[in-house]
Amino acid sequence: MQLISTVAEMRELVTAWREAGDTISLVPTMGNLHAGHMSLVTLAAEHAEHVIASVFVNPTQFGPDEDFSEYPRTFDMDQRRLARAGVDALFAPTVEEMYPAGVDVATQVQVPVSELSSQLEGEWRPGHFTGVASVVCRLFNICTPDVAVFGQKDYQQLLVLRRMVADLHLPITIFAAPTERADSGLALSSRNSYLSDEQKEQAVALQASLAAAGEAVRSGQTDFASVEAEGRRQLEAAGLSPEYFTVRRAADLSVAEERHANLVILAAARLGDVRLLDNILVTRDL
Ligand code: AMP
Repeated sequence: MQLISTVAEMRELVTAWREAGDTISLVPTMGNLHAGHMSLVTLAAEHAEHVIASVFVNPTQFGPDEDFSEYPRTFDMDQRRLARAGVDALFAPTVEEMYPAGVDVATQVQVPVSELSSQLEGEWRPGHFTGVASVVCRLFNICTPDVAVFGQKDYQQLLVLRRMVADLHLPITIFAAPTERADSGLALSSRNSYLSDEQKEQAVALQASLAAAGEAVRSGQTDFASVEAEGRRQLEAAGLSPEYFTVRRAADLSVAEERHANLVILAAARLGDVRLLDNILVTRDL
């Protein structure tokens, strides 16, 4: 596996691959890799001849009160893991390499669709999706992938990035990988390392409440407001502080209606200082 930290070197490598007629897939990450990230790598390898993984803790997607400086950085371990998985290149630039003009004055990519960017995560983390789109657009321009893989765990992010690709006519196919979970059901996340063992047990309530809500909706419950209220109640009963628990249309996150077959139930909750995020897709028989 080649370790690459500059844009120039990355361009040289992808140009050589392209000249050989090979296809390229990209898996963007912020490192501290777990089995969820590795499942993205596996999916990426199924869709292109060469896999690039990036590890970059992107400052522009963190709010001023968020954990940018404390975000877990485990670069040596990540590098070994990606090499063992057969990744061809690890792109790990510095902040200066990614934002040569400076983070605060860098050109931004804003996905302005109100349902997508300003609700839910966008409401609780203002500016987050602009930071995400701005860095992923740069990674796409540097790595020129044919395919990019993202996790369904960050469902709203997935929709924002699909929208960016469509709006900017980027010749890239996005694949979504299902959420990898611990045996308890807890969605794997780099931020789980902030949780104590006791909190990890409490955190299972997030997936459990989503599963229960999914089951209710699948079996015909159409009073989505009461499903949402019950979800919030279950989270609070487990000692979590819900930020949102909401039933939405899977295609665009608009408010769910009885006539919609494909729904997603999304939730975010705080547990101590940690913010937990999860979702479940639900298909209803109409
Ligand atoms: P992050 O390093 O947290 O920015 O995540 C990098 C990519 O991994 C994103 O596309 C996430 O959606 C994805 N991801 C994070 N957690 C999981 C998980 N538990 N299962 C599958 N994909 C995940």
